[in-house]
Amino acid sequence: MFALEATELYRFFHAGDEEVVALRGVVLTLNTGEFTALRGPSGSGKSTLLACLAGIDEPDGGVVSVMGERMTRRPEPERARLRARHFGVLMQSGNLFDHLTVRANVRLQMEISGRGAPGEIDGLLGSLGLDGLAGVFPVHLSGGEAARAGLAVALAAKPSILLCDEPTAEVDAATEQLVIDRLIGNCRSGGAVLIVTHSPALAARADRIIDIRDGGIVHG
Ligand code: ADP
Ligand code: MG
Repeated sequence: MFALEATELYRFFHAGDEEVVALRGVVLTLNTGEFTALRGPSGSGKSTLLACLAGIDEPDGGVVSVMGERMTRRPEPERARLRARHFGVLMQSGNLFDHLTVRANVRLQMEISGRGAPGEIDGLLGSLGLDGLAGVFPVHLSGGEAARAGLAVALAAKPSILLCDEPTAEVDAATEQLVIDRLIGNCRSGGAVLIVTHSPALAARADRIIDIRDGGIVHG
């Protein structure tokens, strides 16, 4: 069984009279223990695809299944239940609650999912180079720190499927290696990982690279 399976995903947006086809027939599977990088130019549909895979957005066509269970075209509470049970998700923004500290953001994710223990939070933050930032509110974080704090939230419940949109866009090379090691660690302990990235360093460590252009997967 695939950890995640997407068949023929379509997503259309309408801007005035114009129709944008953000996804056109995307077929994709993610396997447990596999680290997959998703690459593509700006506007190619990467973020839309991630949102549809995570059940945050609903595709206009096609089906996403998670651990053999269909997620598409189910009421939001059911999608939310599947998300909480199976997914860790890092989007490009909006990953943290501004009124909660970094620690409280991570703890909340543990409570929602029913997995992970508060005693693990400091170790998790340390593994992402965020020592000393547990008590800080998101407004005081740099872009790169906020992305890694969001990643800590995504990792908090040891998700079986981890989806991340450009987790290392704003970090230096040494910090990027820390993040890559942590992502690979999640795979080796039995997760499936899909990372949207422009980073050659990250793509070089992937088990599989998928390219997307104009909403379609390009087969090399
Ligand atoms: P990427 O993440 O690869 O940069 P996106 O998935 O954000 O690309 O966008 C894919 C296409 O869909 C782009 O043309 C973008 O303008 C369009 N798009 C994405 N989200 C929306 C939206 N909410 N409304 C209208 N157009 C959108
Ligand atoms: Mg994007």
